[in-house]
Order: sequence, then C-alpha cells, then structure tokens
Amino acid sequence: MDLGAGIRRALARVTGAALVDEKTVKEMAKELQRAMISSDVNVRLVFELTKRIEERALREKPVSGFGAREHVVKVVYEELQKMLGEKFEPRLGKQKIMMVGLFGQGKTTSIAKIAKFYKTKGLRTGVIAADIHRPAAAEQLQTLAAQAGCAFYGAPKGAAADKIAEQGVKALSGEDVIILDSAGRSAFDETLVKELKAMNAAFGPDAKYLVVSADLGQVAGKQAEEFHKAVGIDGVIITKMDGSGKGGGALSSVAATGAKVAFIGTGEKLDALELFDPEKFVARLCGFPDLETLVAKAKSAGEEEKLKEALEEGKLDYEVFLSQMKAMKKMGPLKGVLQMMGAYDLPEEMVGKSEEKMKKFEAIVHSMTKDERKDPELMRNRARQERVAKGAGAKLEDVRELVSSFDKVEKMMKGIGRNRGLMKRFEKMFGGMKLG
Ligand code: GDP
Ligand code: MG
Repeated sequence: MDLGAGIRRALARVTGAALVDEKTVKEMAKELQRAMISSDVNVRLVFELTKRIEERALREKPVSGFGAREHVVKVVYEELQKMLGEKFEPRLGKQKIMMVGLFGQGKTTSIAKIAKFYKTKGLRTGVIAADIHRPAAAEQLQTLAAQAGCAFYGAPKGAAADKIAEQGVKALSGEDVIILDSAGRSAFDETLVKELKAMNAAFGPDAKYLVVSADLGQVAGKQAEEFHKAVGIDGVIITKMDGSGKGGGALSSVAATGAKVAFIGTGEKLDALELFDPEKFVARLCGFPDLETLVAKAKSAGEEEKLKEALEEGKLDYEVFLSQMKAMKKMGPLKGVLQMMGAYDLPEEMVGKSEEKMKKFEAIVHSMTKDERKDPELMRNRARQERVAKGAGAKLEDVRELVSSFDKVEKMMKGIGRNRGLMKRFEKMFGGMKLG
C-alpha cells in the first residue's frame, strides 16, 4: 500500500466518524502506524509521531472555528510535516556543487536535473565528469548535459578525479553553477572516502549533496550519517520517489539525522525534480493542496457523513439534499474527500450544477411545503411541481430536474446499500473502508 493511501485511510477514521473521541483517535493512530511501518518508516519514529499526535489531538483545544475532526486532521498534518524536516531553499547565484553517493543511486541523472533547474533560474551551468571508475560514466553525463543544454567538461582517460575537478573548474570558469560528478561504490568504504576528500579539497565546493534512492528506505538515513561524517554534506537528494513504496522511510530517516532533504527525484526525465517542501509533500500525501483546503474538506467530509446517516435511516429529504448539494459545490471536485472518507461517490447530479442552477434549486426547495420537503414522494405530483415552480419563479423543467437529480442520488445510495458486489467494488475503490 502506498503511504499516501495509508495516511488518507487513517484520516478517514476521524473524518468519517460520527463522533471523534479517544477511541477514534487511537484507532486512527494505529492505522497511521501500520501505514508508516509498511512504508519502512523507522518504528521508533513512528511511535514517537503517533504518541505526539494522540497527545495533541486529545489534550489541545481546537483553535477557534475548528471542530474535533478538523483539529485532529490539523494535528496529523502538522506532525507529519515536522517529522519530514524543513523546507529547502536552494542558494541561487554563482556556486560549485559536488555530488556524492553510492552506485546507481541516481547521481549522474540528478546532476543533469539540477543543471537544468539552475538554467531555468537564469544561471549558466556546466558539469564535470569525474567518475573515473564506472565505464562510460563520462559519456552518460555528456549526453545528459546536452539534453539539459549545459556545458560539459570531461578529461582524457587516466586522469585522477581530483585533477579532473581542478581542470574542470578552469575550463568552465565562464559558468555560474558548476556541478561535479563523482564515482560511487557498491558500498561505503575508505577508498571512496579518500577519493572524495581529495576531490573536495581540489574542487572547493560551496555545497555538497548526497544522492540516495528512495528504495533504500531507512538505510538512507544511515548513508546520510556516514557521508556527512566523511566529507560533510549540505543536503540530500532522494531519487526514485516515483517508484518506491519506501519513500516515506527514506525521507523521515534522512530528516531524523538532521540532514536536510534538498530535492526529490520523481522520474527518469530531466524535469522530474522537485525542491523538497514538507508542507507540500504532506499535503499531497493527505490528498490536499494545503492545510486550509484539508480542513475545509474535513468539514465537508463531516457533512457527507450527515448524508450517509440520513440515508441509513432512510430519510433522504429535500432539505438534506439541498444542504449536501451546497456543501459539495463549495468543496469542488470530490475526489479528495472520497479518498479521505473512503465513502460514497456522489454523481454529477450533485456536484456538477452551476451556481445559477443551485440558486434556482434553493428557491424551489424553499417554496415547497414542509411536508413536501420531508416526503419526496409528494413531489412526483405534477400539480405540486407546477405550484412550486410558480412560487419559486422557476420553470417546470427546473423543478423536474431537481426531482430527477434527487431520485438518481437516492437510487444510487439505496443501490449501494443493497448490492453487496457493488459495495465491495466501492470499498476497494475507496481504499478498503467499510461502507454503510
Ligand atoms: P549513479 O550511478 O548514481 O550516477 O546513477 P544514475 O544517474 O546513472 O542512475 C541510475 C538509474 O536510475 C538510471 O537508470 C536512471 O535513469 C535512474 N533514475 C535516476 N533518478 C531517478 C528517479 O528519480 N526516478 C526513476 N524512476 N529513475 C531514476
Ligand atoms: Mg553516475
């Protein structure tokens, strides 16, 4: 299971609960633990995190305007963010960057990505090929440099890595940003450290980045420690975040060592690089662009729960329908809420209406009698439809459209309740939650 889905599922325990109490929060914390441990997040970190979440969720008073649900969601969001460290601000301007890391972690690819990144910031960039151990490493970098549109320096075969670094700086003196590729090893060892130290001295980098692949999981943190002790690193680039279920483990373990995650690589192409921003990252994991939206969605998920209750009690009426339709409208596309709720899909009938139509529907519901609002059957009557249309200053078609939307939603909800097969499909689609 991917970490994001796991987190959303855990949050759904809270957002979908009729009542948020200690038991709900504890269940959510358990679910969160399962999700994170299966993404290879360190067990100690996970327990510390969920302990803090439980404490804050249960002891802290919600800030004004927040209900219990939104409060818990906010706490989870903030604690996850804290766990992943701080936002990285890349230094712009003239600089020399040295890349270190073991074999196959994505160093050479990341160099080209970063060269491209600085180019888009309006800086001239050049790269130096000083991986003298891997055959064809220089050619690989040269090809990527051409793709990134940056300058390239490669030395004739046989030169020492530190000498290449020195000559490269001279050859590329016209560039603003110079990035040095280094050789990796299959494992961290003294020979590697010696070579890196010599390169470090010859090159005089302003920044040193360690490149690790997300599929290392927790081991990424250990590597960050080793490399930092050996040559000192300013930031970590975590690659292959697109392909690994262990990204959460890699990120959190690196953050736990105090090293900063600088960039994340999310694909093989050169533009698949992101500056690491915990806030954005967590928002994405949770399925929301930012905390504000997240909280708004938590609120509407509560609204949706009301609908669910109304349906379970078999009393969907026009009042509930109207208020739901308004809530749906406000929160925009439902996908996020559905993921979070693990609950119903609501059809276009409820979310696709224009503002104008909504106003009309509202007027129509208002001109129904109390009985009509509570007993939708009554509104099937043509004479009543005509009367209500007149009272609302609407057309008969508008009333019929409302009635038909209502019917479709009601039918769909009832269908879900009856049809176990469909229920199972929905459950699967929405992350294995129990429905109804
Ligand atoms: P190096 O040995 O550390 O220089 O690693 P390379 O840059 O040669 O990359 C090793 C492999 O990983 C190559 O096939 C890259 O295309 C691939 N790779 C690098 N970064 C990413 C990434 O962010 N996502 C994916 N999916 N593949 C990546
Ligand atoms: Mg390489």
